[in-house]
Amino acid sequence: MPAYDDSNIFARILRGEIPNDTVLETEHTLVFRDIRPQAPVHVLAIPKGAYVSYDDFAANASDAEIVDFHRALARVARELGVALDGGQGFRAITNAGEHGVQEVPHFHMHILGGRPMGRMVQ
Ligand code: 5GP
Repeated sequence: MPAYDDSNIFARILRGEIPNDTVLETEHTLVFRDIRPQAPVHVLAIPKGAYVSYDDFAANASDAEIVDFHRALARVARELGVALDGGQGFRAITNAGEHGVQEVPHFHMHILGGRPMGRMVQ
């Protein structure tokens, strides 16, 4: 696992050094709008803890952080109207490392919705 680099842009957002458009903040999680949205709904959910990628988070975060993260994600999907209880669905994805084409080395999950996403694997 590469060492966590706390100069990454999401670490700077968490420290309040650069602004963000917050949708939800909980004890362990921040959800905010992506600066380059790829869909009518495009938000990023990040843990407040320092985790490089999904595998780092899933292996090393506490149960409380993991539960909080997933509950926050589900709540935002519901509140933004894309969850299945009333909405038409969404995609939740994470990119990890070079082959995953991860731009920001702080674990984050994209939540995309508001339009059909298309097939991921052709
Ligand atoms: P990934 O690392 O999964 O490839 O994607 C990183 C995502 O972070 C991109 O969708 C990009 O638009 C978003 N992003 C990069 N810099 C910023 C920023 O400063 N603010 C916000 N809100 N999003 C950002």
